[in-house]
Amino acid sequence: MKILTIALQKDGKNISTSFELIEAAKALGGELYTAVLAKDAQVAAEELASRGGGKVLAVSHANLDYLNDELYGNVLFSLIEKYDFNLVIGPATFYGKALVSRLAAKSGGRMASDVNALNGSSDGLSVTRSNYGGAVISELAPSGGGPFFATLRPKMYPESKEGAGEVVAEAVDEALMTGKMTIRERKVESAGAVNLNEADIIVSAGRGLKAAENLPLVHELADSMGAAFGASRAIVDAGWTAYSDQVGQTGKTVNPKLYFAVGISGAIQHLVGMRTSQTIVAINKDKDAPIFNVANYGVVGDAMEVLPALTKKLKAELQG
Ligand SMILES: Cc1cc2nc3c(=O)[nH]c(=O)nc-3n(C[C@H](O)[C@H](O)[C@H](O)COP(=O)(O)OP(=O)(O)OC[C@H]3O[C@@H](n4cnc5c(N)ncnc54)[C@H](O)[C@@H]3O)c2cc1C
Repeated sequence: MKILTIALQKDGKNISTSFELIEAAKALGGELYTAVLAKDAQVAAEELASRGGGKVLAVSHANLDYLNDELYGNVLFSLIEKYDFNLVIGPATFYGKALVSRLAAKSGGRMASDVNALNGSSDGLSVTRSNYGGAVISELAPSGGGPFFATLRPKMYPESKEGAGEVVAEAVDEALMTGKMTIRERKVESAGAVNLNEADIIVSAGRGLKAAENLPLVHELADSMGAAFGASRAIVDAGWTAYSDQVGQTGKTVNPKLYFAVGISGAIQHLVGMRTSQTIVAINKDKDAPIFNVANYGVVGDAMEVLPALTKKLKAELQG
């Protein structure tokens, strides 16, 4: 089986999910390739090769500086045709899903989005996907011909640290570098903040915080652990924080190692976005709040009192 993993980068640096894709692909066996597209892809490609990316196809062009799914799609589609891959894996992030579904449509191939695991056996390939926020687990096996495309949820596999690899510089066909859309301007939101999709730890706030003025208490707890900040829809709708922070059915689906839900009731629309987190800690003053049904650890108390005490304790433990 010939496998291509799509390694996305930001400012020329590989994002951590790229190494998770490699780890998942390595477990399947087969011939592994990784594609990385950037303004100058060499440094990112070398790192991918040193961490087990197999043949790392490095495509460098000024127009590939940041992800434009039309141009990235053109280049990746040409690589899929050239190398005749059986399986193409991308990250199940906002950009990864846009890109991989475009590729699947263009190739007329089969696709499974948001998978938790890729399984190889003598029966062939299958993927596991959780539905309804983890309440139902389904296994899907592709049938028919052509490449199979999958997007893998972040944090389902550890990052590949080592393995075989070599960089193969791919020439760029200029004809692929023009698209129907032009990106005129990019504004980077909250530069430096930890990305929700990639975070190992997330601290999310809900209406129990009472007012936007109290959110710094939650940010302080998050900062003390290098965690990302998340939010329930109630406080996004109230204008306390940006929509990009929202976790849930109409926000982001996250899967961190540790998820704090502070002053969040645990409505099903919130749970579907976070209930597959490895460990869930809930802080809520109502002992009967539904969030405690999915929490591994719970603190029944007033967030305004618990948060400063917890932050103080963590700072002392983690920062000495
Ligand atoms: C179609 C649809 C899509 C939706 N999509 C989403 C989504 O993507 N994400 C999402 O989050 N919601 C979504 N919702 C909204 C969802 O149904 C809930 O209304 C929302 O999640 C509630 O947010 P909350 O838990 O912050 O607020 P509340 O439900 O008001 O809960 C506040 C909690 O804070 C606790 N509390 C109060 N005071 C304190 C205190 N001092 N200390 C500690 N705890 C305290 C309360 O006991 C309560 O449990 C969606 C709804 C619909 C209909």
